[in-house]
Amino acid sequence: MKQGPIALIDENMPVIVVAINKGHYDKTVSNIQEIKALKGKVIAIVTAGGETVKALADHVIEVPETLECLPTINHHSLAIIVLPYGSTLRKKCTPTAELIKIDDRRIKKEKTPKLKGRLNQDWSESSGTNSSRSKSKREVKKMNNNNNIPKVIDIVVNNDLCIGCGMCVYKCPSKALEMGWNENGFLVPSIIDDCDSNGDCLSVCPFNPFPKKEVKTEDELAEKYLPDTNQFHKKIGKYNNIYAGYSNEFRLSSSSGGLATYVCAELLEKKIVHHIFSIKETSKPNTHYEYSVSSNKTDLLIASKTRYFPVTLATVLKEIDKLEGTIAIVGVACFIKSIRLAQHSDPKLKEKITFLIGIICGGVKSRFFTEYLASKMDIKVANIQKPQFRKKDITSTANDYSFTCSDMDQEEKAIRMKTVGDMWGTGLFKANACDFCDDVTTELADISLGDAWLDPYYKDGSGTNVVVTRSLIAENLIKEGITNKDLVAGLLPLEDFLASQQGSFNHRHTGLPSRIKMAKKNNQLIPPKRYENENVTTDFKIVQNQRMKIRAKSLEVWRNSPDAKSFDIAMGKSLSWLRCFTKINHKRKGVTHKKNRLFEIIQERFFSKK
Ligand SMILES: Cc1cc2nc3c(=O)[nH]c(=O)nc-3n(C[C@H](O)[C@H](O)[C@H](O)COP(=O)(O)OP(=O)(O)OC[C@H]3O[C@@H](n4cnc5c(N)ncnc54)[C@H](O)[C@@H]3O)c2cc1C
Ligand code: SF4
Ligand code: SF4
Repeated sequence: MKQGPIALIDENMPVIVVAINKGHYDKTVSNIQEIKALKGKVIAIVTAGGETVKALADHVIEVPETLECLPTINHHSLAIIVLPYGSTLRKKCTPTAELIKIDDRRIKKEKTPKLKGRLNQDWSESSGTNSSRSKSKREVKKMNNNNNIPKVIDIVVNNDLCIGCGMCVYKCPSKALEMGWNENGFLVPSIIDDCDSNGDCLSVCPFNPFPKKEVKTEDELAEKYLPDTNQFHKKIGKYNNIYAGYSNEFRLSSSSGGLATYVCAELLEKKIVHHIFSIKETSKPNTHYEYSVSSNKTDLLIASKTRYFPVTLATVLKEIDKLEGTIAIVGVACFIKSIRLAQHSDPKLKEKITFLIGIICGGVKSRFFTEYLASKMDIKVANIQKPQFRKKDITSTANDYSFTCSDMDQEEKAIRMKTVGDMWGTGLFKANACDFCDDVTTELADISLGDAWLDPYYKDGSGTNVVVTRSLIAENLIKEGITNKDLVAGLLPLEDFLASQQGSFNHRHTGLPSRIKMAKKNNQLIPPKRYENENVTTDFKIVQNQRMKIRAKSLEVWRNSPDAKSFDIAMGKSLSWLRCFTKINHKRKGVTHKKNRLFEIIQERFFSKK
């Protein structure tokens, strides 16, 4: 589709698409996605199969297959017939007997009543002054201006899929975008200047629903950017080795085993890079933390520890051209993906950003999460000082950490996270985008670091990392650290690593298809995902549905009444239902597991050849 017709599309514009399941089918699908992104109504004429188009279109007319050389002529003529038919319905005229006759003959019987009803409803809704033909001059001007809305705003932010990485702000050639807080406590871009709509912003967005084939998912990007890997696992992506361990020097001043800070320090010390982009405290009002540049070990120490708080790369990327030498960036999976996409669109960035440190991520939290925890300790939102998310208790287990912060009087207060309840498995205060992220292990980073949430490591309150290496530099840093005794670490069996992130794999891989289905039902655009087509059991679908509801409700409740006590009351019932659905799911899984085991035993005892 060219710019001309694209400019005409809005929610009042029906578009007839001839999408026969041959030739340019993929291209047609991509055009339909674009029409949907612009809120156009799609009436698709399809032949048998055509499931992708059926799922995307608002109305489907299924026609029989004909001779290879004829379909285009046949289906185009059908489109020409349907158009006046719809128009007559919209104008509330009676379609001529001739049209009805042709229509009934061509449209599959079971589709006919549905189609007629829907056409009537949608097209009569769009009649009157909103119809595109009778747009006033002011409306036409507004429509043209809408066309100059940056693509990321139109397609990602307005679709609630923005994760706030800020790469679009950096990439925008017109400097038309700026990051700021939205009403739900997340950082998102907004427009501050004229946009030339060239779409550069969308090309680097990790949640672009229309990525090019060569960067379609993490798998394609890994192929290009991780040439030194020698292993692959469906859930982990490409990798070299997996370790568990900690840094002797940084463990206690870090959130987990201190390996993230160790790797950053070694990269600077060995002059592999000259600067590190990671997270530090900021004095900006209401912001607490932001990305900034570290070029020495002292800076790095301030930049250690996990911050469950929204941050954006936009604050540091603007410095990139001013910095001499090379850069390493610490980031969660979607941020790392945005960097790879930027490197793909501008290969010079690969020479500048030479190393990526991935933080394994279970979801980013709204600013409301911090406000809620502070409110639990009777600290008002405006008074929150120095929030810390992972204060260790080395006498207890690694998952028994506290949230701390001070009031205006500077006195530090603490609350054990165990007493607050499950903040991760419930979806509370989480970004919608995270529900459509299938990269559990930060697959595109040179090295990924997470928590070793498994026996015996979690029993040590000082913290232990899991580590995945994906480049020779990363592999050498870890091996040298072990040899020099800077690190206490060893290889971790694959099954143990998978077990350490089991909750995340369950939610982000197993549950994803059902969330995608729900989102598509609501006309939400979703980027291509690798776990889209797998089966989800009914009980787990119910769990997913409830988590999504809780996520959205938690943001709404806090936005309207930022007080922990009333929040707990408002969320109580929904959380109880989730607990109940989760129990049923676990019970069912237990029974299925026992059944499978029994079959295995029977198989081994009675049918296996000795
Ligand atoms: C939002 C979030 C969710 C996480 N979820 C999981 C999970 O589900 N499973 C799991 O195993 N691990 C998870 N982690 C990672 C874990 O909390 C530790 O950060 C990781 O194990 C590294 O520990 P460390 O002691 O080596 O890091 P440290 O030595 O303490 O260094 C932490 C590094 O991370 C950087 N950093 C801190 N906050 C952020 C942020 N918001 N975005 C980008 N960089 C940041 C710091 O600047 C520093 O460079 C998550 C981290 C974050 C930020
Ligand atoms: S996810 Fe990143 S690139 Fe995409 S719109 Fe949001 S800030 Fe921009
Ligand atoms: S869960 Fe995925 S999308 Fe969400 S913050 Fe983490 S890496 Fe990004």
